[in-house]
Amino acid sequence: MTTIIDSIQLDYSDVLIQPKRTTLNSRKEADILRTYKFKYYNKQIQSTGITVANMATTGTFNMAKTISKLNGITCLQKHYTYEEIVNFLKNNENNDLIFISTGIKEEEYEKTCKILDTGLIDKVCVDIANGYIPNLAKFVKKLRDKYKENILIMAGNVVTGDMTQELILNGADLVKVGIGPGSACITRKITGIGRPQLSAVIECADSAHGMNGMICADGGCTCPGDIVKSYAGGADFVMLGGMLAGSLEAEGEVIKKDDKEYKLFYGMSSCYAQEKHWGKMNKYRASEGRVVEILYTGPVENTIEEIYGGIRSAMTYISARRLKDIPKCATFYKVNHQLNEIFAK
Ligand code: 5GP
Repeated sequence: MTTIIDSIQLDYSDVLIQPKRTTLNSRKEADILRTYKFKYYNKQIQSTGITVANMATTGTFNMAKTISKLNGITCLQKHYTYEEIVNFLKNNENNDLIFISTGIKEEEYEKTCKILDTGLIDKVCVDIANGYIPNLAKFVKKLRDKYKENILIMAGNVVTGDMTQELILNGADLVKVGIGPGSACITRKITGIGRPQLSAVIECADSAHGMNGMICADGGCTCPGDIVKSYAGGADFVMLGGMLAGSLEAEGEVIKKDDKEYKLFYGMSSCYAQEKHWGKMNKYRASEGRVVEILYTGPVENTIEEIYGGIRSAMTYISARRLKDIPKCATFYKVNHQLNEIFAK
């Protein structure tokens, strides 16, 4: 008989965070810089955990340069060539908060090793849409066996605790969580597969933390409040695509239309991306991404400062002095209505 899980499955928009008596008087007292220690990787990093998606539009060199200075992480998009990446890394001031990205094909393994062997970078994001494919765990294990504790590995995407643990057991320090919540994603429409993101984050974070692993919540954040909810659900890192894709540092020219400025944003498995980056769309697959024009937002620093302001303010509302304290301090209300949008349009 078909099983139905009828426990409540929540998105960010289904909850709000309860304010509490607090010991913080000002948002200046909230420390959003966290020191991360990992299960396998032998170095620590300091970051706010805000992570730029490795989409072709957002995971650019320009983005990496700026976001590093703002203590955020960048996962570079995987279509840069070996030469382009090495050239960038050689000339960039600090590569500590940058990941290269890879799929799981043999030639991608070779390219990844060739880049890691330069010693210019030691962080890899192994990213496939369906993290349940056995070859993902195998790929992670192969990398971990070769480079031991000298590299940081993020792998995904999954939405359940069992597979989170499987990837960690195979060598991932960090598991990327999210199937279908992305703003340029139509996986749920095309396949019927997915899980509301907050519930996925809560379960996967718990499973990961139980074995000294961590998670990166990937997709579905539409505003700074969603990012806070993600941290409150236990995310260690929060990955953003759409929220940063309208910025100066994102790929593409500004498009002017009716006195407004836009940038083109597309899902990585949209026909547009497939044709642009692989030269063709394979017959056996359907597009699972969309192409949209989104409003141009100027330098990414503006958006990031707004996000940091939101996180700091939320921390003062719930008495969380450090980023790491947010889940301990947060209590969610399940709500039917989140925002008053009467003047939003
Ligand atoms: P956003 O922050 O825009 O809501 O979500 C970004 C995430 O959406 C990415 O990090 C990636 O996991 C996911 N994504 C990007 N492109 C596609 C796509 O074409 N299809 C699907 N299913 N997900 C995508």
